[in-house]
Amino acid sequence: MITGAGRSLVVAAPGSVSLAASGLSSPAEGELSVRPKLVGLCGTDLEIIDGRIDPAYVRYPIVLGHEWCGVVEGGQEGEQLVVGEGVVPCGHCQRCRQGRTNLCETYDEVGFTRDGAAAPEIRVPRSLVHVLGPAADPAAAVLAEPAAVVYQALRRAAPAPGWRVLVIGDGTIGLLGALLSGLWSPAVVDVVGTRADQAELASRAGADSFRPPEPAPGADYDLVIEAAGSPAAVVSALAAARRGGVVLLLGLPTHGHETPFAVADAVNRDLAIHASFSYTSSAFAEVVALLSSRRLDPSFIVTHRFPLEEWSQALEVLRQPIGERGKVVLEMEPG
Ligand SMILES: [Zn+2]
Ligand SMILES: [Zn+2]
Repeated sequence: MITGAGRSLVVAAPGSVSLAASGLSSPAEGELSVRPKLVGLCGTDLEIIDGRIDPAYVRYPIVLGHEWCGVVEGGQEGEQLVVGEGVVPCGHCQRCRQGRTNLCETYDEVGFTRDGAAAPEIRVPRSLVHVLGPAADPAAAVLAEPAAVVYQALRRAAPAPGWRVLVIGDGTIGLLGALLSGLWSPAVVDVVGTRADQAELASRAGADSFRPPEPAPGADYDLVIEAAGSPAAVVSALAAARRGGVVLLLGLPTHGHETPFAVADAVNRDLAIHASFSYTSSAFAEVVALLSSRRLDPSFIVTHRFPLEEWSQALEVLRQPIGERGKVVLEMEPG
C-alpha cells in the first residue's frame, strides 16, 4: 500500500544518480519500516555510482545508503535510535549455520542489492534491527556499519595487548582502524596517510603518530591494517609487518585491478594475510553494544553534514576532499 511520498537518492545505472520520487509502502511480514536520520556516504558509494564495483555485488537501479541510523516507524521501539545489519543472511545455508553470515551463499546487502537508506524509509528484516542505548549519539550510530567492517577484521586478527599496530590510510576506515584497535590495548598505533589535513582526526582516533607514506615505515609491526585500497598501499602494508606478523586487507581497489607483490618475501616472513569482507551478525552486535555503552565513540569522525537535497555537494566533498574530512553524512530530516 502506498501511503505517502518522498525522495530517494537513486543510482539508475552507472553514471546516473539523482533524487527521485519514491512511494512509501507498508513493510512486509517480518520487516520493520525505519525512518532514516543520518546516512553515511563512502568510497563504495562512489564505486556504485561510477560502475567500478564488481557487478556480482550490486544491482541497478539502487537507492544508495548502506550506512545509516534511524527510528522505527510506529514500533514499540518508540523514538529510540536503531541501526541495522546491512548484510541480509539467508539463515539456513552452511555458512550461515556456522555463524559466518558475511559469507552467506546468497549475497544480499542493503544499499547494494536491496534499496538503501537515502530515502524517506528503509525496510529491514526485524531480526537485523538493533536498538541502541538511550544515550546513543546519531553521529556515532551512523558509523556502526563501517565500524563493524573494521571490528570483524580486527577480531579475526586477534591482536594481543602490547602489539604494535600500523594503519595505512587516512579515510574513515583507516580512522576506525586506529580507534578500534585501541580496544585491544596496543603499545603503539601509527597511521600513514597522504593527506596532512587528517592529522588531527588521526590523533583523536588514538594514533601516536601520523605521517606520509615516504619514507617507508619500519618492518616491525605486529599488525598492519591496509585501509587505503591502492596497490602501493597493499605493497607497503606487506612490507611493514614483522616476521610472523598479521596484515589485514580492508581497502577495496577498483574491481579487476591487480597488485604484484613479492610472494617469496611474504612466505619467508611467515605473514598471515587476511582479506576481510563485511561483518557477521555477531560482530555487528558487539559493535552495537560498544556504541550503546559509549565504550566506543566514533562520532568525531563525522566532519561533514548535508541535507539530502544537497547530495551533489556531499558527493563532491567525498570525491575531492579539501582540508580535514572524515565521514560525510546526509541529514534525512530537518534538525
Ligand atoms: Zn561504506
Ligand atoms: Zn546463508
